[in-house]
Amino acid sequence: MAIEFSERVGRLPDYPVAGGYSLPDDVAMLASNESPWPPAPAVLEAAARAAASANRYPDPSNFALREALARRYGVPANRIAVGNGSVDLLMAAGEALLEPGAEIVYAWPAFSVYPHLPAASGATAVAVPLDARHRHDLDAMASEITVATRLVIVCNPNNPTSTALGLEEITAFVEKVPPSVCIILDEAYCEFNLLDDPDASIDLLERHPNLVLLRTFSKAYGLAALRVGYALCGGEPFVRAVHAVRQPFVVNAVATAAAIEALKHSDAVAERVEKTVMARVELDEGLRALGIEPAESQANFCWFDLPDCAEEDAVVAGLRERGVLVRAGRALGREGALRVTYGTTEHNQRFLRALGELL
Ligand SMILES: *Cc1c(COP(=O)(O)O)cnc(C)c1O
Repeated sequence: MAIEFSERVGRLPDYPVAGGYSLPDDVAMLASNESPWPPAPAVLEAAARAAASANRYPDPSNFALREALARRYGVPANRIAVGNGSVDLLMAAGEALLEPGAEIVYAWPAFSVYPHLPAASGATAVAVPLDARHRHDLDAMASEITVATRLVIVCNPNNPTSTALGLEEITAFVEKVPPSVCIILDEAYCEFNLLDDPDASIDLLERHPNLVLLRTFSKAYGLAALRVGYALCGGEPFVRAVHAVRQPFVVNAVATAAAIEALKHSDAVAERVEKTVMARVELDEGLRALGIEPAESQANFCWFDLPDCAEEDAVVAGLRERGVLVRAGRALGREGALRVTYGTTEHNQRFLRALGELL
């Protein structure tokens, strides 16, 4: 007899993982929207210092990191939650807000973790198609909100399509959502968004206690392996609820120390954002020269439909043979599309050359 698992385990979708973890060093890792640049030396030193006290448990309230974030963003520490990556906070939000009979609204294609939330909780997923320009259709999303809706997620800029909506549209949407419905604005890529000041959305928190801005150290801060994300919240109840459903020492001491130090180096973040925007222009032009029209990116990656003659699997395999890893669209919600993270100039050029050979 085999072990009998809970019914929900059977419902959980697989997270579409990227390959490449056991490949040689020189592969162009353009599949996971990571920073191609390693953390600053001071950040690594802070992590090493924290590792020296690894015999002690970390502070379960994570006070120092929440205080550092409070100073950086002007949001009080009691309205900030931290997590083992922002995915940890997403899943905790699902656990805290959803249950059978409840509804969650999100756009699709959007972040591949979102379908996990209804699957894990037994809530009903309402996935709203993007518009023709691969952007959230906020009117359509607003019209899907019912008395059963507990959580709405807006991914801005959106993964995997790279597009963003301006703050005006986001504000109008937030004003329409009933105050009893939690809105998570997933801003994992906000630092790369040139439409608005990345911190402009923070003002919305003062007027909307149901709003949560979800951010991460995994992308612009370049600390994906350490797993630190945070939520800037309009109210304290969200912080208490996600705290209640998770294990006590959810963000480890090494990651905490690195994140606190990284916050002191906003110049390094600005520099990476600048290089990313240059890569955006480089890839945009390179793709257009191949007859491809990418979505309008405000992120550190691009998204485009392959020409009709090209087959997704063959292109992904051909790129891999040429030392380039990208994400196939099928696993992300759109067959025949590719998502490609901006890398170093050398890797971007390798990708463009390889794609040119394959088309
Ligand atoms: C990468 C990403 C995250 C961040 O995940 P972490 O758990 O913080 O590494 C969150 N949301 C979206 C949409 C992402 O693409």
